[in-house]
Amino acid sequence: MGELEPRPGPLVDTFGRTARDLRISITDRCNFRCTYCMPEEGMQFVPRDEILTFEEIARLAELFVELGIESIRLTGGEPTVRRDLHRLISMLSALRTPDGRQVEISLTTNGSTLARQAELLRHAGLTRVNVSLDSLRADRFLAITRRDALEDVLSGIDAAVSAGLDPVKVNAVAVRGQNEDEILDFAAYGRSKGVQIRFIEYMPLDASGTWSLDQVVAADEIVRTIDAVYPLEPVVHGSEPASRWRYADGGGEIGVIASVTKPFCGDCDRVRLTAEGKFLTCLFAIEELDLRHPLRSGASDAHLAELLKDAVYGKWSGHRIGRVDFVRPTRSMSQIGG
Ligand code: SAM
Ligand code: SF4
Repeated sequence: MGELEPRPGPLVDTFGRTARDLRISITDRCNFRCTYCMPEEGMQFVPRDEILTFEEIARLAELFVELGIESIRLTGGEPTVRRDLHRLISMLSALRTPDGRQVEISLTTNGSTLARQAELLRHAGLTRVNVSLDSLRADRFLAITRRDALEDVLSGIDAAVSAGLDPVKVNAVAVRGQNEDEILDFAAYGRSKGVQIRFIEYMPLDASGTWSLDQVVAADEIVRTIDAVYPLEPVVHGSEPASRWRYADGGGEIGVIASVTKPFCGDCDRVRLTAEGKFLTCLFAIEELDLRHPLRSGASDAHLAELLKDAVYGKWSGHRIGRVDFVRPTRSMSQIGG
């Protein structure tokens, strides 16, 4: 430790993929209890002293950027429940890539506090936001999130748009028997508000462990349903997981994230840091690299960089959802950072 020369350079794996996008979970706590993500009661949270401080997150983020990361998304748990989130955002928005470009800082949130915070976060340097919303009906919203907060989230989305966050995207997890009858309502809502709805296929990361393949509403079905009423044209396919579609009449775009039916692992450029400082090369990773311990025992940047490069080098080709050899991670979504 400490003997190694800093070796800035990209985080590349054996399949030739380069990590460019870092998801940082800044807390495993949340003010909602969405049925597909957390149990109603009894969630075991990480002790506070094991959660990375803003300074520790910023130090790691700077190192990641030296190693080729170009965009950072803050998530959780619910990132907006972490006190003084705007302070972390201003620390991260000062980061520049080795060739001088601004690092893109975004946030995934349940939107419940955005009506109060959107302006502040925007001024701190946040540029874009994804708000999760799985139903436009108050009773159903309550049943899914176990919180009576639909109006807060809807006003949070409006506040994000007014604050100039751009784009504002709305993430909806489509679950069979729960909300697939709202696909067209979501499309109409997105068109009227000028926000992009992104439908996410339900993944086996629910805390209850009851996920089954027949609950997944396939991306193709979602696109067909919308296209029948509001004709769609495909946009582009790159490393971005959402396949994007635009309304033929110019009414905006939708996205579909087909993690289950059409995994995009071959193009994956993501890596993840959990709230307690574990580094994961995949949402479904079984192996984790602990960064908190070396960080708190005085490891040099060069040593941390070597650990990260080794971990990324060993990244697997992809998850095996729906196959007999799929191994479900022990962490659920709120413990990883979606
Ligand atoms: N609390 C924030 C939120 O809800 O946006 C950020 C964390 S949440 C874990 C991130 C995303 O993961 C949300 O869009 C949520 O809907 C999604 N998610 C949670 N559990 C999921 C599951 N089992 N399958 C698919 N998406 C899931
Ligand atoms: Fe909280 Fe987000 Fe999980 Fe819902 S999906 S319980 S808002 S972390």
